[in-house]
Amino acid sequence: MSLLDVRGITKRFGGLLAVYRLDLDVREGEVHALIGPNGAGKSTLVSLISGLLQPDGGEIWLDGRNITRLPPWKRFHLGLGRTFQIVNIFPGRTVQENLVIALLGRHKQGGDLWRPVASRGHILREAEELASFFGLEERFGEKVDVLSHGERRLVELALALAGRPRLLLLDEPLAGLGAEEAERVKAAVRRIAREASVLLVEHDMDAVFQLAHRISVMVYGSLLATGSPEEVRSNPQVQQAYLGEYEPLA
Ligand code: ADP
Ligand code: MG
Repeated sequence: MSLLDVRGITKRFGGLLAVYRLDLDVREGEVHALIGPNGAGKSTLVSLISGLLQPDGGEIWLDGRNITRLPPWKRFHLGLGRTFQIVNIFPGRTVQENLVIALLGRHKQGGDLWRPVASRGHILREAEELASFFGLEERFGEKVDVLSHGERRLVELALALAGRPRLLLLDEPLAGLGAEEAERVKAAVRRIAREASVLLVEHDMDAVFQLAHRISVMVYGSLLATGSPEEVRSNPQVQQAYLGEYEPLA
């Protein structure tokens, strides 16, 4: 069974059909890449899945539960995490403070009032582990404002992982990064994929073909194809509509 099951989802903005009767599934343990030209509706789809936007039709199921009408925070508690195309972290705070805030958020959830609150030491240790998981141990005490763009992106990924998501929605994590920082973030996505399923929206085709188990191609609000990287790469419609002159890795 799929972890995420999107069935016939539709979203209009006025007269524009941003997403139209789209079906998509993400399997447990999978990195599923979503590619397509600008304006195809990828970010809209991510917002529909995370609950930031409400669909005009269709359903979204997470692990066998219909989440179509649930608010974002309930989806988060069910294991749905996301990052945005624009980096989203707490400014004026250190890496450590950012991580502690995210971890406290998780430890408060669950509704079990009688469960002992995790100790301060425990949370600090977990924050340190997360930082080193993403290669940020040397930046632990720095304010996030002085970090590079790529490092802030890593913090954002760490914050998302702090929520222990079962499925993480990543919207263009490599956008605006130089080659070296992109490599660090790619490695981070690979590490995240050991802990969670990932729906990865990304323009960097090398990264997509390196990271994804399956790829879905979205054009004008609908899916053109879904399949393994090999299937998608050799699909004539996809080549014509999107990949164009893209030369796959040897
Ligand atoms: P992508 O992420 O694939 O580039 P988007 O999901 O951002 O595409 O956008 C899909 C289409 O919906 C575009 O034509 C965009 O201009 C439009 N759109 C996105 N968000 C809104 C919004 N909040 N209001 C009106 N139109 C929107
Ligand atoms: Mg987008």
